[in-house]
Amino acid sequence: MLNVDLAFRNLATQVRPVTEFEDVALGEATGRVAATDVTAPIDLPPFDASAMDGYAVDATGLDCDGTKSFEVIDRSLAGKPATRGLSRPQTAIRVFTGAVMPDGADAVVLQEDVTAGTVAQTTVPVHTGQNVRHRGQDVRRGDTLCPAGTRLTPYRVAWLAACGIERVRVTRRIRVAVLSTGDELVEAGKPLKPGEIYDSNRLAILALMREKAVQAIDMGCLEDNPDIIREALLAASEHADVIVTSGGVSVGVADFVKSVVDEIGVIDFYKIALKPGKPLAVGTVGNALFFGLPGNPVSAIITYLLFVAPAIDLMGGQHVAPPLMLPAVIEGSIKHSRGRREYVRGTVMTRGSRVVAKATGDQGSNRLASFADANCLIIINEDVGNLPDGDTAPVILLPGEAAHPLREAIVQRHPIS
Ligand code: AMP
Ligand code: MG
Repeated sequence: MLNVDLAFRNLATQVRPVTEFEDVALGEATGRVAATDVTAPIDLPPFDASAMDGYAVDATGLDCDGTKSFEVIDRSLAGKPATRGLSRPQTAIRVFTGAVMPDGADAVVLQEDVTAGTVAQTTVPVHTGQNVRHRGQDVRRGDTLCPAGTRLTPYRVAWLAACGIERVRVTRRIRVAVLSTGDELVEAGKPLKPGEIYDSNRLAILALMREKAVQAIDMGCLEDNPDIIREALLAASEHADVIVTSGGVSVGVADFVKSVVDEIGVIDFYKIALKPGKPLAVGTVGNALFFGLPGNPVSAIITYLLFVAPAIDLMGGQHVAPPLMLPAVIEGSIKHSRGRREYVRGTVMTRGSRVVAKATGDQGSNRLASFADANCLIIINEDVGNLPDGDTAPVILLPGEAAHPLREAIVQRHPIS
C-alpha cells in the first residue's frame, strides 16, 4: 500500500495548471484564481484624509500645553471638500472622517478635545500628522495587490474594489464530471425497494465543490455494468478536466470502475495506506484526471478532501498553502492500529488556553453522522498506535469551519451537555 505522503507527491506531479484565462467582473470573481498579478491603479487612500471628526489645523508650534484658539473658516465633509485652505495662522477647518485634508492643514484635533463656537479652542498638544490618513498609506499605485495564483477571497475582492479594479483576469473554471456507481443506489424522492439506499456521494461531492472555481458536470448514478461505465467515462473524458466517480473500486464482483479505467486509461496509483479511503484509485482517462473514490460515504468525502480538492486548486493555477495544522489535546481515547494514516472526524474547541479535540462517535466508514457534527479531522499517523486520553495529535479544520465568535455566547445561554 502506498504511503499517503507519496500518494500526495505522485498526484502533484500529475496535475497541470490550465493555461486558459478569462476576464470577469470583480463582482463575479469571488472564489476564482487570479491568472496574472493584479497591480494597484491608484494610491489608497487617494488623498490625505481626516481619520476622525474634528478640526483640521496646521500643527506648527502647537505641540505644547495651554489654550490654542482657532477661527473656524470652512468645513470639509467626505465627498464634499472645503472650498479653501488654511490661508492664515490660527484658523481651522471643520472636518469629518474620510474628508479631504484642506490645503495647509497637517493635523486633526478630535472634536471631543475642542470647545466649539465661532472660535474653537483646545488645550491638548497638537502633533503633525495626528488623525490623518496619508495618501498611499494603504496601497501605492503600482503595488502588487495579489500575485497570479491567488484565490480571490471576499477580503481580497474588497481590497481590489477599494482600488477601483473593475475586472480581473482569472483562470478558467475546471470542468469536473461527477458520477456514482452502484446497482443499489436510488435518488431521493423515490421510495426504497429492498436492498436499495439513497445516493449520497454524488450530492456530497457536488456540495463540497460549490466553493471551488469549477463547472460541475453531474453525470448521475450508473449501474454496475462495465459497458455503461466505459461509455460514461469515455464521454466524460471528452469534456471534463477531472472525472470523479464513487464506488466500484474495491475487489467485489460488481466493482468494475477500476478495471474499466485499466482498460481505457491508466491507473497511476491504487490502494493507499489511508483510513478511511484505502481503495482510492487515481489515474487518467484520455486527457482527464481520474479519481475513483471508494463507495463508502465517509471514505468518499475524506478522499475528496485530501486528493480531489487540492488537485482542482492546483489545476486552477492556485498556489496551494499547506493546511493549518493545530496540535490538539485529545479528549477520550481513540483506537488506532498502526500501518495506515487515519483521519478521524472530530470536534475541535478551546478550553481556556488549550486546544482540545474529540472524536465524533463511531468512525465506521459508512457512518455519515460522524461527519455531520464534525468541524475537524484528527490525524493519527501510520506509525502511531491507540491515542490515549490527554495525548496530543494534529488536527486540520474542515473547509468552512471558521470559528464563530457568537457561538460561545449562545452555548453559554443554552448549555449543551
Ligand atoms: P463499493 O465501493 O461500490 O463497494 O461501495 C461500498 C459501500 O458504499 C457499499 O455499502 C455501497 O452501498 C456504498 N455506496 C456506494 N456508493 C454510494 C453512494 N453513492 N452513496 C451512498 N453509499 C454508497
Ligand atoms: Mg458498488
